[in-house]
Amino acid sequence: LIRFDKVTKRFGSNVVLDELDFSVASGKHVTLIGPSGSGKTTILRLLMTLTSPDSGSIKVNGDYLTHEQRNGKLVPAGDKHIREVRKNIGMVFQQFNLFPNMKVLRNITEAPVTVLGLSKDEAEERARELLDMVGLGDRCDAYPTQLSGGQQQRVAIARALAMRPQVLLLDEVTSALDPELVAGVLDVLRDIARTTDITMLCVTHEMNFARDISDRVLMFDAGRVIESGSPDKMFTEPEHERTREFLSAVL
Ligand code: ATP
Repeated sequence: LIRFDKVTKRFGSNVVLDELDFSVASGKHVTLIGPSGSGKTTILRLLMTLTSPDSGSIKVNGDYLTHEQRNGKLVPAGDKHIREVRKNIGMVFQQFNLFPNMKVLRNITEAPVTVLGLSKDEAEERARELLDMVGLGDRCDAYPTQLSGGQQQRVAIARALAMRPQVLLLDEVTSALDPELVAGVLDVLRDIARTTDITMLCVTHEMNFARDISDRVLMFDAGRVIESGSPDKMFTEPEHERTREFLSAVL
């Protein structure tokens, strides 16, 4: 479903991703781990087209994110093509990024109405179901600032799911939360992983969570995947010295 082919990304002379190859199959949950600055967030930002690669290609669901076919030729993707491919992808950020001037319900219905063309009633019905699922069915009329960080993050998860994406990107979604609020957010994500067929690509420092939900864990260092495997293998008997060092520092 997601495929990176020789993707290179530089910021100035800093080579953040170095001819990176990896793929994620449909319905799988893949976690990216690795030291700070190893390029994990950049991968998610590339998928959201918040930034673009210097070379290489990215495919989502068989379509190039970076290129499109025009008159039988592969050319750099235009805005319309990018919007279409991106409809398949939802993202939850570290800092929630809710619309502060909109109530919770409207935060969730806004994109389905404006981007997918759902009627207001349809969008609200779906939003209420999602809010129930994340345990906030009674907070439709609150503004984001009236909620705790953990509640805001659960709204952000519901907002991402409201677009019915095939892929959910999670970027250190608990890093900005007070410790006592982390478990509630992770429980919601565990439920989603267990009960839906959504594909998840997750960057996290919560190793127990990564262990619970992942089908595969990829260890990054210096812009490349240096080791990958099942969570059992990665957390109990990693092969690479760098992975061992990293895990002993964070576990
Ligand atoms: P962390 O765990 O700290 O979030 P990460 O593995 O997600 O780290 P990235 O955020 O992808 O790492 O950053 C990789 C490198 O790219 C870092 O050295 C960072 O300074 C650099 N970088 C990221 N975004 C930009 C930018 N917009 N301009 C310049 N450099 C950037």
